[in-house]
Amino acid sequence: MTTKTNIRRYLCRMDTRQVGNLFTDCLVIGGGVAGLRTALAAAEAGTVRVLAKDAVTESNTYYAQGGIAAVLRDEDSIEAHIQDTLQTGCGICDENAVRTVVSQAPQQINELRQWGAPFDMDGSRLAVGREGGHSHARIVHALGDATGKALANTLLERVRQNRQIKIFEQCFAIDLLTENNTCLGALTWHPRHGYQCIWARRTILASGGAGRLWRETTNPEGATADGLAMAYRAGAVLADVEFMQFHPTTLYVAGASRMLITEALRGAGAYLVDGRGERFMQNYHEMAELAPRDVVSRAIGEHLSQTGATSAFLDIRHLGSEWLARRFPTVNEVCRSFDINVDTDLIPIRPSAHYMVGGVRTDLKGCTSIDNLYACGEAAVTGLHGANRLASNSLLEGLVFGKICGEAAARDISENPGEIEHRTMRIDIPESDRTRLDLPDVTNSLRAVMWRNVGIVRNGQRLTETLDIIDFMRRYVADKVFDEPVGWQVQNMLLICRLIADAALQRAESRGVHYRVDFPEADDTQFRRHLEYRRQPEE
Ligand SMILES: Cc1cc2nc3c(=O)[nH]c(=O)nc-3n(C[C@H](O)[C@H](O)[C@H](O)COP(=O)(O)OP(=O)(O)OC[C@H]3O[C@@H](n4cnc5c(N)ncnc54)[C@H](O)[C@@H]3O)c2cc1C
Repeated sequence: MTTKTNIRRYLCRMDTRQVGNLFTDCLVIGGGVAGLRTALAAAEAGTVRVLAKDAVTESNTYYAQGGIAAVLRDEDSIEAHIQDTLQTGCGICDENAVRTVVSQAPQQINELRQWGAPFDMDGSRLAVGREGGHSHARIVHALGDATGKALANTLLERVRQNRQIKIFEQCFAIDLLTENNTCLGALTWHPRHGYQCIWARRTILASGGAGRLWRETTNPEGATADGLAMAYRAGAVLADVEFMQFHPTTLYVAGASRMLITEALRGAGAYLVDGRGERFMQNYHEMAELAPRDVVSRAIGEHLSQTGATSAFLDIRHLGSEWLARRFPTVNEVCRSFDINVDTDLIPIRPSAHYMVGGVRTDLKGCTSIDNLYACGEAAVTGLHGANRLASNSLLEGLVFGKICGEAAARDISENPGEIEHRTMRIDIPESDRTRLDLPDVTNSLRAVMWRNVGIVRNGQRLTETLDIIDFMRRYVADKVFDEPVGWQVQNMLLICRLIADAALQRAESRGVHYRVDFPEADDTQFRRHLEYRRQPEE
């Protein structure tokens, strides 16, 4: 599909003769689970540079709590995990992608154990928890509810021991460098080194999610969809961007950031209740608190609007603070820091933007529509999630497709020795004489409008209004040339919000995490398919 994004190919002016030029066999944009896993695989064949726009620990991966889904018990089966994933994906998963990821989960967990991942044990077996949408207990976790941190640290340690791999922190990728639909690396910026072109035989986009496009989100500050925006500018196909998963339970304390309260808490017996302490999920779905996330998020929204309350609550009074401290130390610490005594008090929660299901379209080898460019992790659409992600399938996807992309890049690198290609490029962009808008104001307004109009519940009229609002903002922001990340990020956000709002408008039905009040049913005749976007070369 096309939409009028009027986007220029590159965000910055640049002359490759006047900036630093670095060379590497493989460039990985992103230092979360996908980026680190892919770097380890690619390093088998050559040098790898991993970019992180902030500290490498500032990623969605690092904040993941609940765990990694993997079939490890006899009473469970790969087929059951596949069926749960397909059912959650509401008819548009790619079954081959689902089979690929799910069947490799047990070996990924084994490999991580060999690398020293401190998974929690139940006697001599790995402990497994249960989460929404899963028919069996199969969520492997570490340090109670700090799985992401444990996973990232395990991968980081291995990466740091590998002399082929170097991590560049605080290094912002601005744009992919391309020629004739072939990726040659990326233009980057670093506060100390300034602009640099990093030329690479293969580039792997592992730049994570987009939660920061919404006002309420569990994602850290860096999740501004940069990777999606740079891939779109370079001509890659994006798909499924209308599907943002909203997590039902984030702590709702005025002024505090929206900390996630893991779904595993409900899996372990926590109740969702209203202000009177009454459970309500059984009125919305037969799986009650363990219904898929989109169902729980919408049920909370509907219950709040019916009762006029500002938040719902998690109730763990029957489980107690000692249990919480033992099993969910992160959640326990968060509650303590807000003086919530879980033995007597309810925990206030609301839904917020959590996981970007859509992204850069890849095939089952991680290849994008641009030659020499791969994508994996939350930035990619492999077909695993369809219209909704099954809980704890995303760290798993990052591991499996990280490995697949890295191995493919390693093969390509071995088969294509010789000099790393680079070009002399000069990009000129004329100065704009239009008014400058205040960037923090634009960011806040954009995130607020996305939350109000492109949130858990959507309708056609509001989506059309949103497109007008975004186009207005873009008129004054997209034409400027910025020279620091805050400007590039807003340009990226505006572009991807435009595509998300457009896709949400086009998908005149409800499916998975995309819910339209004006079209509340799924329409298989028209929409059992993916909406894809690709920048037109003449734009
Ligand atoms: C609070 C929270 C809890 C979660 N819990 C779970 C869970 O229990 N189980 C599960 O399966 N999933 C969970 N998820 C989802 C999961 O963590 C993510 O989907 C997954 O970690 C994404 O990994 P990634 O490597 O693709 O991206 P990330 O881990 O987000 O890493 C992205 C990387 O890209 C870099 N980057 C981005 N833009 C640029 C740029 N312009 N230039 C340079 N670098 C850039 C960032 O600096 C970062 O290093 C959770 C997510 C959150 C936020």
